[in-house]
Amino acid sequence: MSRVLIIGCGGVASVVIRKCCQLPEVFSEICIASRTESKCTALKNSLEGKTKTVITTAQVNADHVDEVTALINQYKPDLVMNIALPYQDLTIMDACLACGVNYMDTANYEPEDTEDPAWRAVYEKRCKEKGFSAYFDYSWQWAYKEKFEQAGLTALLGCGFDPGVTQAYCAYAKKHYFDTIDTIDILDCNGGDHGYPFATNFNPEVNLREVSAPGSYWENGHWVEIEPMAIKREYDFDKIGQKDMYLLHHEEIESLAAAYPEAKRIRFFMTFGQSYLTHMKCLENVGMLSTVPAMFEGKEIVPIKFLKALLPDPASLGPRTHGKTNIGCIITGKKDGIEKTYYIYNICDHQECYKEVESQAISYTTGVPAMCGALMLLNGQWNQKGVHTVEEFNPDPFLEALDQYGLPKTESFDPVLVD
Ligand code: NDP
Repeated sequence: MSRVLIIGCGGVASVVIRKCCQLPEVFSEICIASRTESKCTALKNSLEGKTKTVITTAQVNADHVDEVTALINQYKPDLVMNIALPYQDLTIMDACLACGVNYMDTANYEPEDTEDPAWRAVYEKRCKEKGFSAYFDYSWQWAYKEKFEQAGLTALLGCGFDPGVTQAYCAYAKKHYFDTIDTIDILDCNGGDHGYPFATNFNPEVNLREVSAPGSYWENGHWVEIEPMAIKREYDFDKIGQKDMYLLHHEEIESLAAAYPEAKRIRFFMTFGQSYLTHMKCLENVGMLSTVPAMFEGKEIVPIKFLKALLPDPASLGPRTHGKTNIGCIITGKKDGIEKTYYIYNICDHQECYKEVESQAISYTTGVPAMCGALMLLNGQWNQKGVHTVEEFNPDPFLEALDQYGLPKTESFDPVLVD
């Protein structure tokens, strides 16, 4: 029996909410709060009579700590799930600290305004010191460690699929199969087709910022940064087939490098079709991915926000997306002095997801782990105080929950490695 405040009501949050409603014995009461309350009310109405979970809704602008604090004080939840955008991570963490409540999210902090001079000064110093230039990194949220520890609270960061399940896969591998880890390759393949020439599978602004940025990977104790999409490999994915994949910077590389200091190399690859890449390059070349406001007919517009308004809403892709996703980790290392390889992954079918929760597999593979992470915090199986990423917790009950609630793992002990 618990009360959970879920902030955000977009593509991922609707999966989280529908999955929570499948477990009313745990999620007995939820409040869906977002910037646009009408979306929360529409979802609540569509679930009416189908769940025993008691649902309420609220309007909140989570950019403002005082608004979130007032809502938490009024609703008195056991946990706040931030399923809005990475821009709201710090304000919601501040509100959780002010009210003494546990926090979780699915993506690490990045600022909405990357031209903000105060943020930029810290960012440029970090680029030089660490050697990667992505706008997002864990330093902002790791800075809350002591505050959460002292308050006796837990903040669970990045509990979607990647980041999230990918780190639990590494923790599971280390716990059960390896003494030391040598390399980790995270492979994210979306073999789905939505029929549009160009659309993104989750929030377009966050997604396009991520994939148009320089790639980077961890090697022998430091970051190696490369031009965007400069490293390409082919891989034959189980149940999908041969796909082109590209090396990207991704947030869990940073926390995995900290958790497994013995690892010689950690990389992240994502598949993209040629049409996606050509569209993205063209949009980038004409300035449509810019976050810097431009004047248009006397009004300031942010090009990437305008583009978001034109692109299909990722939440609307569900009925038209066919095919499967395959996301997992290939790990090499040693057990009892013997070299081993191990591949752990999940295969998820877009149409099966749509039948169950009216959503495509990208939102599903993010929303189900978020619900399972909330379950771990609420039932006390994950109870370390402070600010933690997924690989720091016991992976076993989490992977059992994923097996049970829609994202079963597949294991292979003789995988083809990526060169
Ligand atoms: P959407 O854009 O579909 O939804 C975002 C939601 O947040 C909307 O309901 C939006 O409200 C709300 N929101 C935005 N700003 C505010 C604010 N200031 N105050 C309150 N609510 C706000 O995004 P997605 O559902 O696609 O993505 C959600 C999160 O999941 C993102 O952080 C994304 O990075 C993360 N993600 C993580 C993955 C993983 O594997 N770990 C994979 C995919 C996504 P409104 O309706 O008013 O716009």
